[in-house]
Amino acid sequence: MSNEISRRNMLKFAALGAASVGALGFAPKAQAAKKKSATDAKGVKVYPFVCGVLKTQTQYMLKDTRVGTPMNIPVTFFVLRHGDDWVAFDTGNNAMCAKDPVGYWGDVTAAYYPVMQDYEEFGIQIKKLGLSPQKLKAVILSHGHLDHAGAIDNFKGLDVPIYMQAKELQTVKAAVASGKKTAYIPDDFKVMDQLNIKTVSGVFDLFGDKSIISFPTPGHTEGHQSLAVKAYDGKQLILCADAMYTMENMLDAIPPGLAWEPTQAVEALTIFKVLSMIGDSVVPSHDPDFWKAKKLAPNLFAKLDREAILTTFASV
Ligand SMILES: [Zn+2]
Repeated sequence: MSNEISRRNMLKFAALGAASVGALGFAPKAQAAKKKSATDAKGVKVYPFVCGVLKTQTQYMLKDTRVGTPMNIPVTFFVLRHGDDWVAFDTGNNAMCAKDPVGYWGDVTAAYYPVMQDYEEFGIQIKKLGLSPQKLKAVILSHGHLDHAGAIDNFKGLDVPIYMQAKELQTVKAAVASGKKTAYIPDDFKVMDQLNIKTVSGVFDLFGDKSIISFPTPGHTEGHQSLAVKAYDGKQLILCADAMYTMENMLDAIPPGLAWEPTQAVEALTIFKVLSMIGDSVVPSHDPDFWKAKKLAPNLFAKLDREAILTTFASV
């Protein structure tokens, strides 16, 4: 019965998505058409960043798995170039994680302890691409957790739209109202009134040309979304964010250790598995093996040969 309900919810998402495509995209149709030709020629360039690591244990990443085994996971975020426009997908941790991790994150550090240097902060790192926050066209947040939305304060007082699913914003507001430090840190959102947050419900085609599409992948959080990208090299990337912490979560259908609704989290993993089987590159947010030796910005995201091995079982 519970599966039926969640499937119905997914259909509901799809219906909302159909209504939202174009309606919320900020590119007018003429502009979208112009962008399309530019994008067809060049595609979207994806630049990966790592904002330190979290010291954790396997069960917090892979539910009930190898309990007590230490695991150091990278914190990732992305900057994408679409024609002349730049877009961020997530932001990594707040700068305070480099200065006073326990004071800033509180008890969460017992499960996820951030090890981060000052220079790994979002606003500092994007200088590698000659960028500053005000030069971005948009930010898309996968969800509001501390290691994804933590540096959103870079956009305080700016017009840069920050897109998140409406359900995620509801959760963020409830977390802020509670004042408690969970995986949502109220202080991350203390500048919320000075941010240009825009909500979407369902599928969201950012430029109206199907090159950067966010889509709901609830489970890890209620309003989590992932990003589908048509890359410059003809590849299709799925930036899963925390809907897929690691490849192992997907390959063995193991829900994340931290989940709003584990059954739905596994459904999201199933979608990634199918996308992987038809040739999309699925990108996990926190997989130390995947990200080991991966070139980071200012280099472009590139698939490593050994990733073929990591995803071999996806076709079985
Ligand atoms: Zn998360």
